[in-house]
Amino acid sequence: MKHGALSIFSALALLAVAAGAQATTVIHAGTLLAVPGESPLSEQTLVIENGRIAQRLDGFLPAEDFGVSAELIDLRDAFVMPGLMDMHVHLQGELGPDNDSEDLKFSNELVQMRSLMFALRTLDAGFTTVRDVGSRNQEMYALRDAIDRGWIDGPRIIAAGRVGITGGHNDVSGLKHELMELYSDESMCNGPYDCRRATRNAIKYGADLIKITSTGGVLTDRATGTGQQMEADELAEVVQAAQRMGRKVASHAHQEDGIIAALEAGVDSIEHGTYTGPEAIKLFQQTGAYLVPTLLAGETVKQMAENSDFMSDAIKAKAIRVGTDMQGNFGRAHAAGVKIAFGTDSGVSPHGTNAREAVLMHRAGMNEMDILVSATVNAADLIDMSDSLGTLEVGKHADIVATDGSPLERIEELLDVDFVMRAGKVYKR
Ligand SMILES: [Zn+2]
Repeated sequence: MKHGALSIFSALALLAVAAGAQATTVIHAGTLLAVPGESPLSEQTLVIENGRIAQRLDGFLPAEDFGVSAELIDLRDAFVMPGLMDMHVHLQGELGPDNDSEDLKFSNELVQMRSLMFALRTLDAGFTTVRDVGSRNQEMYALRDAIDRGWIDGPRIIAAGRVGITGGHNDVSGLKHELMELYSDESMCNGPYDCRRATRNAIKYGADLIKITSTGGVLTDRATGTGQQMEADELAEVVQAAQRMGRKVASHAHQEDGIIAALEAGVDSIEHGTYTGPEAIKLFQQTGAYLVPTLLAGETVKQMAENSDFMSDAIKAKAIRVGTDMQGNFGRAHAAGVKIAFGTDSGVSPHGTNAREAVLMHRAGMNEMDILVSATVNAADLIDMSDSLGTLEVGKHADIVATDGSPLERIEELLDVDFVMRAGKVYKR
């Protein structure tokens, strides 16, 4: 009888292995911030099965309790929390003096290989989910899908399709006429119906969300300012076309006129939001839209403008002004209760240094817990994935990071993440 039962058990175990089922992993967490925004718990056991949190239990329970092959990960001396999420990255590039020549020399395939390296650096830094808001689309969708399928390692990618207006911040700039023509594509639109077409087109080819630029930008090589560029009717058409197909809209915006216009059109997040003033703050509160501050981008372009020589005069002037004003304005928006989702614009700053944003947010007056909430719970809400990401509750993806000290006491701990797991797989230990 006993013998027979064992045989059946081994047969089932073999079947499980054959089906590729993952073994159970047990984590002993000294301090566990299961739900950012709530108090951390001490001495907790997390049980992970099939890439998800199966159980959370008080105390350190032996791994054997969860099966003979259960693996124990000892994080008894660590601070354990949900994987960090960055809502604004550009995985296909990194700003520097060689950008122009790389654009001309590198094949799309080589750029894709490099973005794989940037994705791994990002994951290694503890960022298990990123929103890429502006890349060559087909390559980014392919990277997203390859990671999703488990073919390659990397953070979970939510990939935007771009929609922009001719001559605007999303359009190509600073090259000779013939080259710019070569780079122009169907994501450019003019007028409301054309922008409706461009939005539908982006969704057709794989966009998880739509990224627009309602104002000018710092890195456009033209003195076209940082004020409103897209018209209200264009913004409204993009938002409606996206909503009809269940997609969100993120709008880059610096000056307040363009922030207001985008919020009035109903976008879900404002990226940068450098000159968020009292009127824009009121609209943020009314609409519930998120601000994705990207302080690290402001800091980076300002440093580069002051200390290097590769930027054009048009870019330098904007970089110094925007970089200087970003932090103070962000501090006021946060203090007024605007919802914040963590985002860095990495690709402007080096990939893998994403957590430096947290240090800048802290310097601007945001407390440690609010910063952690912005990079987990709020980010998950912004991408509509609160049911599977953002906290370490039962049923959610086992996207888990750990630091040796508590970032609730010292935010700089995030700069040195010691343990990274995504969907139950350990990448760093
Ligand atoms: Zn950006």
